[in-house]
Amino acid sequence: MVRVALIALFVLVAATVAAWRFDVLPNPFAREPAPPPVPALLAALASDDEAAVASALEAGADLAVLDGEGRPPLHVAAMRGLSDAAGALIGAGADVQWAAADGTTALLLALRHAPDARLPLLLLNAGADPTVVDAQGEGIMAYANANPALRQGGLASRLRELAEADFVRGWPSGYVPPVPDATISSRASHWPNAWRAYRNGTHEGFDFYDGAVSGTTSITYGTPIVSVADGVVVRADHDYREMDQATYDAIIAEANRVMSTPEEILDQLRGRQVWIEHAGGFVTRYAHLSDIPDGVTEGAPVAQGQVIGLTGNSGTIDGVEGTENDPHPHVEIWRGSTYLGQGLEPAEIFALAGQVFGQRALPPRWGP
Ligand SMILES: [Zn+2]
Repeated sequence: MVRVALIALFVLVAATVAAWRFDVLPNPFAREPAPPPVPALLAALASDDEAAVASALEAGADLAVLDGEGRPPLHVAAMRGLSDAAGALIGAGADVQWAAADGTTALLLALRHAPDARLPLLLLNAGADPTVVDAQGEGIMAYANANPALRQGGLASRLRELAEADFVRGWPSGYVPPVPDATISSRASHWPNAWRAYRNGTHEGFDFYDGAVSGTTSITYGTPIVSVADGVVVRADHDYREMDQATYDAIIAEANRVMSTPEEILDQLRGRQVWIEHAGGFVTRYAHLSDIPDGVTEGAPVAQGQVIGLTGNSGTIDGVEGTENDPHPHVEIWRGSTYLGQGLEPAEIFALAGQVFGQRALPPRWGP
């Protein structure tokens, strides 16, 4: 009898130990494993603390660290609708194209969760690819349509055209045209990569000449020019003094002598300028300005659509001669040392302009 009881007890103990061993029953003697430490950056995002996000970034936080769901900090910011934190992460170098195991990117997550258009627009401006689809094959329209906050407003129509067009990675989308309501010129000679014989060099921007652009705006001396996206001013030539004729003649002679346009000469020929840095590190340059608003100074933040200068002809022969003839905004978009359109055919530049400024910024037809 005792023997049977002992055997029964032994079997019971063995079964219990086996159950603990294989996690069928909770083991009361096991020590609780300490949770892995949550990186400060993820903790700051999880508590919506944008100031703590900024200080974690300042301390050099790892931008590729993944949380328990396999999400990097930028995805967490996108899911929580934290625009400022997302802007800081992108500014610190977070990869806007990175996709999680389920195929979602920061843009898709922002479209589903953002409380307004700000964060998706920031990601588009930073170069996020709007043609990506998740593992189920769902793209930006499916994500945006699931978010009531995005059903109205200007972003919806831009998203529709971006979803249907080819996307050139490495360049932004969601910018506005620098001259409100105007298209780019219908003449490819006014676009980047066009040849400029008078200075033996390549044109690096878009010229907006009255009569060559479509849309309702007429472009005259003093027509306002706006920032194409949110950004920070990195150059504003408030103290610009126009070249005299002798200086102008000398730099043109030098360009002809060296059979190219050295950068310092090109800079003089752009006249009075404003440069703005945008999300993703893109820089836009606005040239030949006649004036710059007082608040547009180096280091100042500017909003998309904010007036950053007035149309003029500074740095051109007409400006040197003291006239107001031939005024035109000249706008360049740079990624590092490459300007948008560099080395491309006109048809490619036309398509890229549609991606960057939107289809409404394209003229109905174009030629040389
Ligand atoms: Zn130009």
